[in-house]
Amino acid sequence: MPIKLLPPQLANQIAAGEVVERPASVVKELVENSIDAGSTQIEIDIEKGGHKRIKIRDNGQGIAHDELELALSRHATSKIATLDDLEQILSLGFRGEALASISSVSRLTLTSKPANQEQAWQAHCHGRDMAVKLNPVAHPNGTTIDAADLFYNTPARRKFLRTEKTEFQHIDDIIKRIALSHHKVGFILRHNGKTVRKLAGRAEQDKSKRIGDLLGQKFIGNSTYLKTDYDSIKMEAWLGSLSEVRSSNDCQFSFVNGRGMRDKLILHALRQAYEMTWGIAEQPAFVVFLSVPARDVDVNVHPAKHEVRFQQARLVHDFIVQAVSQALSEDAAGTSANGSYQHQP
Ligand code: ADP
Ligand code: MG
Repeated sequence: MPIKLLPPQLANQIAAGEVVERPASVVKELVENSIDAGSTQIEIDIEKGGHKRIKIRDNGQGIAHDELELALSRHATSKIATLDDLEQILSLGFRGEALASISSVSRLTLTSKPANQEQAWQAHCHGRDMAVKLNPVAHPNGTTIDAADLFYNTPARRKFLRTEKTEFQHIDDIIKRIALSHHKVGFILRHNGKTVRKLAGRAEQDKSKRIGDLLGQKFIGNSTYLKTDYDSIKMEAWLGSLSEVRSSNDCQFSFVNGRGMRDKLILHALRQAYEMTWGIAEQPAFVVFLSVPARDVDVNVHPAKHEVRFQQARLVHDFIVQAVSQALSEDAAGTSANGSYQHQP
């Protein structure tokens, strides 16, 4: 065959293979976009585990009429402009791929109204060339994205979808993770018209209240609270008590610069600290927020951004082990004042 450029839809569908694994990945990308847009309230409506429809409405800054088409094209982003920006990234998105990918594997409509624009506009794209059509519609300030019939045109992917219940469970997990690290944002999650989660936006200082909303007051009440730093690395953590030890890892939440992670290095460090203190091999429960200078961490390792690469991996690992094991053993010995612990370098 001669060499030819792929038509945009096919190129986007190939890229979608990496970003859009299942309905929950669509939800993750769209909710992260809403957060990047400064939304304080996000509503997520799911039909049939997301197979049928994923609809996200936010009250963020919106997308201007003349940028709607661009927002749907590949490698188009408002979040970075240079390599330097990428190295100090603070937003959750930066690849400019999510909307293009999702629109290539679903029937997507994007409706948006920035506050300074009189009229809301709705865009949808269709065909091999992904031509964008715009219509004026009624919509409050903010953005709604409606992705229906996910994978309708990629049967190979559709075959891998699990039951409605399983796919919804994955969606709920994603919302939980995002809501833990964005406690000021209000969330409503509905499945087949029924409200499943309703989280009021919490005040800046009330992070622990949001954790309580999601993991229960008992978790908060019994956990060891840790706030400490070393050089430019900061850590805030709620470390579950022995009574919270589980047979699975479903209550382990770690975040790096506000981004939910299943990072091996962090998990390893935490397990090691728990093992050192308690001598257990089961799964401890914890919520850990790490913050490191954006320059010292590479988030562009994985298309779905599940992993990061720390410049000083060893240092980060040992810092976590040391601080967590010390906090746990001091709390167990009852030496820490009011259950909170400050690391002494
Ligand atoms: P990325 O998030 O990597 O920039 P996306 O494909 O997810 O790429 O989105 C493309 C662009 O569309 C974003 O950079 C942003 O400018 C705009 N956008 C997407 N979703 C929203 C939203 N909910 N509110 C405002 N702007 C949005
Ligand atoms: Mg995005």
